[in-house]
Amino acid sequence: MTALILSGREAAASVRTDVAERVGALAERGKGVGLATVFVGDDAASQVYVRNKHTAAAKAGMLSFDYSLDSDATQGEVEGLIRSLNADPAVDAMIVQLPLPPGLDGNRAVQAIDPAKDADGLHPFNLGLLVLEQPGPRPATPSGIIRLLEHYEIAIAGKVALVIGRSFLVGRPLALMLGARGIDATVVQAHSRTANLSEHARNADLLVVAAGRAGLVGADDVKPGAVVVDVGINRTDDGLVGDVDFAEVKEVAGALTPVPGGVGPMTIALLLHNTVVAAERSTA
Ligand code: NAP
Repeated sequence: MTALILSGREAAASVRTDVAERVGALAERGKGVGLATVFVGDDAASQVYVRNKHTAAAKAGMLSFDYSLDSDATQGEVEGLIRSLNADPAVDAMIVQLPLPPGLDGNRAVQAIDPAKDADGLHPFNLGLLVLEQPGPRPATPSGIIRLLEHYEIAIAGKVALVIGRSFLVGRPLALMLGARGIDATVVQAHSRTANLSEHARNADLLVVAAGRAGLVGADDVKPGAVVVDVGINRTDDGLVGDVDFAEVKEVAGALTPVPGGVGPMTIALLLHNTVVAAERSTA
């Protein structure tokens, strides 16, 4: 068996078309849509992510505002910048590019964002809405994964989903979303202290791997025909790879996301989606 490859590029294009149409509709009413990014330090990989977000925002017809601070910026300076963006009517939503350099507290920085302008859906207020299953901006990577599965009409209800990873950015909100009413997976959440990880993995109909460990999941860890979503991004001597051994697992899985070109484009698309929804709400 060779797995169906779930193209995030293809699925993201349809999300971005919808976003661009909604940006156009707001423009007709005289409302521009603005996304701001807050980047601290000089990490080259993070700089690329931020640049990609600006390019995608511009393609969707949004204005984007690029704020960078040196790595010696203080917590007060970072939060002061965020508060000024909260008050800026041209900014509908913002992201703080995480992680922040050592010595700065990313969680506290996110808490300084006005929850109504939270493009990443990571403010505790919005995470609370997620727990309560009430509408609000959802974290971009988990909602990108769910959109990707929807795009390929992969049914999840009643299936066993294993999420490897419990970060507040990816694993934890994704587990909540997959188990929520309307999506209805039966969710198991694994982490670095999980015993018998491979056994849990082989039991999963949907396996989402968000650990940041190249080669963590191989063919022996996958139930034949399972859907495997690889969130990991690892820089190795062989270039960019995920957490899943793609060559092996594609012979066992029923469907599989590539790295790059899988979850990454969905994350950016859902960030733009959250931004246009914030702009629509601000004019409602
Ligand atoms: P993170 O904060 O480092 O969390 C990693 C999680 O994986 C932790 O919960 C950790 O467990 C768990 N873990 C680590 N090693 C493990 C192992 N051997 N077995 C089982 N669990 C293990 O990372 P993150 O922010 O969630 O990101 C995860 C990966 O996704 C990274 O490679 C990141 O670059 C990538 N990512 C990609 C996108 C995208 O758009 N494609 C977006 C965000 C992140 P403990 O909690 O016990 O430490």
